[in-house]
Amino acid sequence: MKLQSDRTHGSRPRTEQVARAVPDPAANPSVGQPLHAPSQRPALERDPVPKVTDAVAASESFPTHTHPELGREDMVLEIEDFDLWYGEARALWEVNMGVPRGKVTALIGPSGCGKSTLLRCVNRMNDLIDHVRVAGTMRLSGDPIYAPTVDVIELRKRIGMVFQKPNPFPMSIFENVVYSLRIDGERDKRVLAEVCEESLHAAGLWDEVKDRLHTSALRLSGGQQQRLCIARAIAAEPEVLLLDEPCSALDPIATGRIEDLIGELKGSYSVLMVTHNMQQASRTSDYTAFMYLGRLVEYGPTNNVFLQPRLEETENYVTGRFG
Ligand code: ADP
Repeated sequence: MKLQSDRTHGSRPRTEQVARAVPDPAANPSVGQPLHAPSQRPALERDPVPKVTDAVAASESFPTHTHPELGREDMVLEIEDFDLWYGEARALWEVNMGVPRGKVTALIGPSGCGKSTLLRCVNRMNDLIDHVRVAGTMRLSGDPIYAPTVDVIELRKRIGMVFQKPNPFPMSIFENVVYSLRIDGERDKRVLAEVCEESLHAAGLWDEVKDRLHTSALRLSGGQQQRLCIARAIAAEPEVLLLDEPCSALDPIATGRIEDLIGELKGSYSVLMVTHNMQQASRTSDYTAFMYLGRLVEYGPTNNVFLQPRLEETENYVTGRFG
């Protein structure tokens, strides 16, 4: 099956899809309530708040605490009951989340909790690893990502990815940016020049490179190379842009430029970003998802997750008490 970006949504009604990804506050009165809200009942009778550490100890999945604000978003990406095993080792435990269209969503959590694994599942990069097995559902604008008939090359055109280490191709700046158009057979020089300029503008790089578009991309600084990689991804007009710790190989000034750029991409692009840097998540993202040992623990508006987390374990992590 060829994935088309203008396809109508999948057979299930969107309301049902969202209802599965986001808990219904009416069905679960604890959703949207502060963890320590005064109870009407004596303390001993209060329902216990599930703890992710208990789920880990019992080798069970964990019901994500999803903030009700997410229920108002249009989801470009829907992830349902998603599991992944590397051989015998399970790395993802029934992950449920929707990624809002036109927003920046950050995945945070201690090293090894599965952030990059989850990100790589979205554009099926994990297909390249022999001993990986997955279960569950992912949909891009309603289209199943894991149906056996999906053309993975087409899928990756719709889902761009930028890696930790900048990876410009050994060719000119211009050819890097228009790479996806060349692959699609675009030959019109005017179209190529326009897309190149627009994408470099969007990536905040145009002014620095406009006079040397035909020199090697490998001569750019690390930060410029990373913005070039973002320009190359944007040129393909992806529906989702995946960023896997895009600043981890950069100095603080280059990091600041990329963070500003991510802020500017909001609205036009749907970004899902892995970061181990909590300041970066709080500065750049609209929504934050906290993961712990393969479970998605809490997911909500970034300000809420950082300033008013609903679960004690999230609070312990964002305040630096563990991790
Ligand atoms: P994070 O991005 O949060 O640091 P990862 O997704 O890289 O976490 O890793 C999650 C878990 O999966 C870790 O236990 C890690 O050792 C394991 N893992 C990651 N990649 C592989 C792989 N290719 N083969 C086997 N195990 C892996």
